[in-house]
Amino acid sequence: MSERDGRVAVVTGGGSGIGRAISHRLAANGFQVAILDLNGTSAKLVAEEIRAAGHSAAAFGEVDISSRAQVDAAFERVRAEFGPVLVLVNNAGLTGFKKFQHITDEVWRRTLAVNLDGTFYCCQAAVPDMLAAGWGRIVNISSSSAHSGQQFMSHYVAAKAGVIGFTKSLALELGPSGITVNTIPPGFVDTPMLRNSESHGLLGGTVDHHAELTPVRRAGRPEDIAAACAFLVSEEAGYITGQVLGVNGGRNT
Ligand code: NAP
Repeated sequence: MSERDGRVAVVTGGGSGIGRAISHRLAANGFQVAILDLNGTSAKLVAEEIRAAGHSAAAFGEVDISSRAQVDAAFERVRAEFGPVLVLVNNAGLTGFKKFQHITDEVWRRTLAVNLDGTFYCCQAAVPDMLAAGWGRIVNISSSSAHSGQQFMSHYVAAKAGVIGFTKSLALELGPSGITVNTIPPGFVDTPMLRNSESHGLLGGTVDHHAELTPVRRAGRPEDIAAACAFLVSEEAGYITGQVLGVNGGRNT
C-alpha cells in the first residue's frame, strides 16, 4: 500500500505554523488529514485550503489535547468520518519563557500537560487502530532545545525532553507490531510561535540576526519539518524507528 490509498493521518496543532505545513504535505501525499487544534477556526481554514487544492482534509477542532476526554471524543469523530487512524503527528505545543524562580505550579503543569500529556493521550487514542492494522506511523514534534538546553525555558525543555524519551521507549514496544515512532526536534522555524517570541524580545535578537548565526544562513521553514515528517510516515521509512531527526539548519548537531 502507499499513502495514496487514503490512510488517515491525525495532525495536532494543524491550524498553524509547522502543523499547517505538515497537514498540507501529508494531504498532498494522499493521506486523509484530520486536524485537531485548540483553535477551531484556524483548523477549519487549513482544512478548507487543503480541500481547495483538491486533497482530503477535515477539521475536528476545538480540541485541547491536554484533555483525555476531548482527545478521545475527537478520535471517535475522526474514525466515524474517515476511518481508523494509522498515522499520528503529535505537533501541538505550548512554549513559554520564564525565569526559573518565576515558574509557578500552574505554568509548569500546563506546559507538561500540553506538550507531554497531550502526546501520551493522542498515542493511546491512536495505537489501537494501528495495532489492529499491523501498521502505523507516529511522529512526535519535540524541540532542539531539548538537545541544547535553553535558559528561561526549563519547563518547556523538560516537557520536550520527556517527549524524546517517550518516543524512544514507545518505539521499542510497538516495533514488533509494525508501528514506527520517531521524533523531529525542530530548531528555529519561522512560525507564529517564533515571531511571538521575537516580538516579546525573548529570542535574544531578531529572527534575521539568528538566521545569520545559523550554519545554513536562514531560518527554518515549516515546509522543512513537513518534508522530514512526510518521509518518516512513508512506507519506505519502515526500518526507521526510535530516532531523533533534527531539522535545525545545523544549529544543533
Ligand atoms: P504555532 O504556530 O504556535 O502552532 C501551534 C498550534 O498548536 C496552534 O494552532 C495552537 O493553537 C495549537 N495548540 C496549542 N496548544 C494546544 C492544545 N492544548 N491542544 C491543541 N492544539 C494546541 O507553533 P509552531 O511553531 O508551529 O510549533 C509546532 C510545534 O513545533 C510545537 O510542538 C513546538 O513546540 C515545536 N517547535 C517549534 C519550534 C519553532 O522554531 N517554531 C522550535 C522547536 C519546537 P493556538 O494558536 O490556539 O494556541
